[in-house]
Amino acid sequence: MTGVAGLKRAVCERCLRAQSACICRWITQVEAQAHLLILQHPLEVGNAKNSARLLQMCVTGSAMATGEAFDAGVLDSLLHADGRTPVLLYPATPDDAGLPAPPPMPALPAEALRLVLLDATWRKSRKMLYLNPALQRLPRLGLTDVAPSNYRIRKAHAPHQLSSLEAAAQALGQLEGAPGRFSPLLDAFDGFVAQQAAYVRACGAGSLACSSGESDEQDVNRLVGH
Ligand SMILES: [Zn+2]
Repeated sequence: MTGVAGLKRAVCERCLRAQSACICRWITQVEAQAHLLILQHPLEVGNAKNSARLLQMCVTGSAMATGEAFDAGVLDSLLHADGRTPVLLYPATPDDAGLPAPPPMPALPAEALRLVLLDATWRKSRKMLYLNPALQRLPRLGLTDVAPSNYRIRKAHAPHQLSSLEAAAQALGQLEGAPGRFSPLLDAFDGFVAQQAAYVRACGAGSLACSSGESDEQDVNRLVGH
C-alpha cells in the first residue's frame, strides 16, 4: 500500500537533500577562530548547486539563517551573539551612493570576530545589504589574492567570482593570517562540485538522475572586489 507519504522522496536529515543526492560524504570538520554566520537568501534554499549548507556543516559552530529583509532584533542578536564583533564579507562599494561608507576593519584577533557571509547571487546580496541597515553599518572584509574559482557548475562571469564556500574559506584564512589553513574546505568543495557536475551531465543525457537536479542560476555569488 503506497500513500502520498510513501511517494515522497526520502530526505537526508543532515543535509536536507534527497538521499539519492546526499552531500554528507563531503563533510570535513574544520575549526575556525572567527565565528561564521551565513545569511542565506531564500532563493538559494532549493538550489542544488548552492554550497552554503556544505559550508555550514563543515565549519564547527557556524550558524545559518535564511531571509532577505531580516527582523532588526533577530539580526542584531545573530550579529552580536557572544560579544563578538561582526564583519561583513563584501567588497568596498565606494561608487554606490545609496550605501553609507562602512567603518574600518577593527584591529581584533580572529577569535573576537564574526564573519558574516551573504549567500546569494551578486544582485540579491546587494538587495540584502540595502534592506538591512545593520549590515550596512558593519566593517567590510574584502578578499585579497583570490585564486580562480572551481565553480564549474554555475555560470561564472569571471574567474574571481567565487562560491560562498570558496569565499568563506579564503576569508577565514585571511582573518587568521593563514591563507592555506582552510584548504580542506576546498577539497570538500571539489568533491561536491564533481557530484553536482555528474548530475548535470546525466540530465543532459536525459537520465532519470535529472530528478535530483535543480534549475540553473543565471548569476553567481560575487563576494570579492572587482
Ligand atoms: Zn546528507
